[in-house]
Amino acid sequence: MHFLNEQSSWVEIDLSAIEENVRIIKTLTGGEVMAVVKANAYGHGAVPVANAALKGGAAWFGVARIEEALELRNAGIEQKIFVLGYIPPAHLISAVDNQISFAVWDVEQIDTVSNLWGNSDSAARVHLNVDTGMSRLGVSFESALELALYLSNKPGVLFEGIFTHFARADESDQGSAELQEDRFIKVLDDLQNLNINPQWVHASNSAASLIRPSARFNMVRVGISIYGLHPSLDIKLPETFQPALSWKGTLCQVKDVPPGTGVGYGHEYVASKKEKIGTVPVGYADGIRRVMGNRVLVRGQAVPVVGRVCMDQIMIQLDNVSSAKVGDEVVIIGRQGEERISAENLAHLWGTINYEVVCGINRRVPRFYLD
Ligand SMILES: *Cc1c(COP(=O)(O)O)cnc(C)c1O
Repeated sequence: MHFLNEQSSWVEIDLSAIEENVRIIKTLTGGEVMAVVKANAYGHGAVPVANAALKGGAAWFGVARIEEALELRNAGIEQKIFVLGYIPPAHLISAVDNQISFAVWDVEQIDTVSNLWGNSDSAARVHLNVDTGMSRLGVSFESALELALYLSNKPGVLFEGIFTHFARADESDQGSAELQEDRFIKVLDDLQNLNINPQWVHASNSAASLIRPSARFNMVRVGISIYGLHPSLDIKLPETFQPALSWKGTLCQVKDVPPGTGVGYGHEYVASKKEKIGTVPVGYADGIRRVMGNRVLVRGQAVPVVGRVCMDQIMIQLDNVSSAKVGDEVVIIGRQGEERISAENLAHLWGTINYEVVCGINRRVPRFYLD
């Protein structure tokens, strides 16, 4: 697709890649798939991604905020939606009204919910979050049984699921994940002995889904892998997964500068000879990190970004691409010819993880969808 005449910088999302990635996960894990589409589907666009994931076989959608859940409902997504994190009390009503399931982890929340719906026909659908070692949200695994009992006796509250979340499933040493899994299974066993069996049991993020078959239970919660991005350097996706996101821009000026010319703010780069400098309308306000060492692709070749990254623009050194012209496509993430720059490459340069790279592509960069 060609947006070169219409856009400064844009993102292209291959929805068939997302559909296929979900299908692969579903086949691999054998249970149900919750496609995690929080944070605007890791920057990919929540509604189009959710629809693609649906085609690939996802039965649930996971989000972080009630607003994200409502965005899916308002877009006509009728499948199950789960809010993984906190819902401010004032928004519980809209969760229940819209059949959105959510996490609980303490008595006060359960009481609030029960007080609101204890006398009505509709019940709130809740999943008990068990903290088995992440130390984020969740009732401690040691107190989980007690809270589960409390929950199962509360009117107006449907104990629909139980879950935990791994802190270190993306490492090659699985010792910590194994301990968390053992703690979770103990809670499940104790519950079963009391004949309390919530319908949905889930623990695995992408990394665990790939390498801990014992932690799949009857659903996995997968985010990063459905976008075709590796969970970590240690836990990589099989090669059948495809990255869905490309980030591009248009070369908007090309000029020759004489030796000694400073480029950009602070003249941090100075041309050592006569050099060909190009300008691309994408900058740190779009999500390119303001560090030295960035590279982009032009005419199938990797070229360096020179000088400081500006808010809305970057300059690139085009000496090795003598044919480069105004209007050429510039790739920030993605393929061009034989070359590729991945979100993982940028993460390495920026000292972060691929998750943050794609979540950090600003909303002002328009997203376009390819089937
Ligand atoms: C974000 C998140 C996931 C998805 O993790 P990935 O590593 O992207 O697969 C699953 N569960 C919870 C609770 C999350 O917060």
